[in-house]
Amino acid sequence: ALFPRMRVRRRRSVTDAYVAGGKAAREQFALWRSQPQFVYLDSAASCQVPETVLQAYLDYYQHGHANAHRGSYPLAQQATAQLEQARQELANWIGAQANEVAFTAGATHSLNMLAQGLQLDWQAGDEIVLSRAEHHSNFLPWLRLAEKHGLTIRWLDLDPCTGNLAADWQDVVTERCKLVAVTLASNVTGQVLPVAEIAKRARAQGALTIVDAAQAVGSLTLDVVALGCDALTFSAHKMYGVTGCGVLYLTTQLQAQLEPWLVGGGMVTEVTEASSQWVSGVQQFEAGTPNTAAIIACAAAARWLNEQREAGLSCYLQRLTHNLREQLSQRQWLQLVPPQSDSTSLPLISFFSSEVHAFDLASYLAEHSIAVRAGSHCAQPLLQFWQHTAVVRVSLAAYNTAADCERLCAVLDEAYQLFT
Ligand code: PLP
Repeated sequence: ALFPRMRVRRRRSVTDAYVAGGKAAREQFALWRSQPQFVYLDSAASCQVPETVLQAYLDYYQHGHANAHRGSYPLAQQATAQLEQARQELANWIGAQANEVAFTAGATHSLNMLAQGLQLDWQAGDEIVLSRAEHHSNFLPWLRLAEKHGLTIRWLDLDPCTGNLAADWQDVVTERCKLVAVTLASNVTGQVLPVAEIAKRARAQGALTIVDAAQAVGSLTLDVVALGCDALTFSAHKMYGVTGCGVLYLTTQLQAQLEPWLVGGGMVTEVTEASSQWVSGVQQFEAGTPNTAAIIACAAAARWLNEQREAGLSCYLQRLTHNLREQLSQRQWLQLVPPQSDSTSLPLISFFSSEVHAFDLASYLAEHSIAVRAGSHCAQPLLQFWQHTAVVRVSLAAYNTAADCERLCAVLDEAYQLFT
């Protein structure tokens, strides 16, 4: 299985348990106490943060704050221990070892760090393979690298109907390819890419595979060993954590090929006026004071997400998304992007109307306390593939209910009446 630990539980009792618990889940978010009618459908951009995660953040600042990996007094040692415990927990969470996990400021930071630091003896004409589904964060760093070294970017195409990889994608990864950088799931279509197969093909051609799991992390259980990738990254704010924290998995072999992008405090053993010696291991990629509170909150978010998944969250969201997709596709004036979707899709749906502009729809929804996102979603090459400039995206998370989806559809209908 592609994601052995991701299996969605289909037993009805588990889902029903979550529906009951789903309301309880909503109560864990202060936002709905102050704004009970608010419909938040933009979790693919940033999830709301449950109170238990915020409490972990606050506890650290109230009782455990000091500069980790620096001081020898008890408070500093406690901060260091908490940070390292979070590293261990998050490593376990993705099937990695603690010495394979570095903390960054987020997925964008990690991907830039990789593009700037990888020492792959780039030669003009070497190929980098990306999918058409990439977010700009997993495209622009490679575009810049390609421009600098005269590399060629080749694209894994998509099936326009389903958003899945085109049947002949394997042909794009040849012996000229040195690196494949691919998203695990699209932030526009929600389609999950067959990353384990891609990584296998890349390895057979002698290429590295880097996985952008920023969008997938909130919905799929990650297993870096099953994926067979060399590096993988995600941001905490897309898995119910806080902003300013990214997790970057790096195999030890890849670490040996990666130069630190940032240099400074915390990543050196010895410095003279003329030279410096870097520490070994992941800390060489963590120059400067770490965002310990956000890292601790990220581990708390992983624990919270595990509990929700145990209670049936994945199945609940799959059903909610399926029902919403059905409701939206009944509206002739809306077209879904991609037109068809399968069960591997994340809980997000994008659509457009040839009669009402995406920004008009999003503005009208915003006026009615419904938060969605409209635009190119930092994926302009993907939108160009479908010849769009803007689509509306709705994304569902633990705190969404069937009533949210009904309200969305009702207000969309009003918008259509108004604008046409
Ligand atoms: N990659 C994907 C697929 C995303 O959806 C996002 C954020 O929307 C990113 C990368 C960038 O994440 P961040 O802005 O947290 O660095």
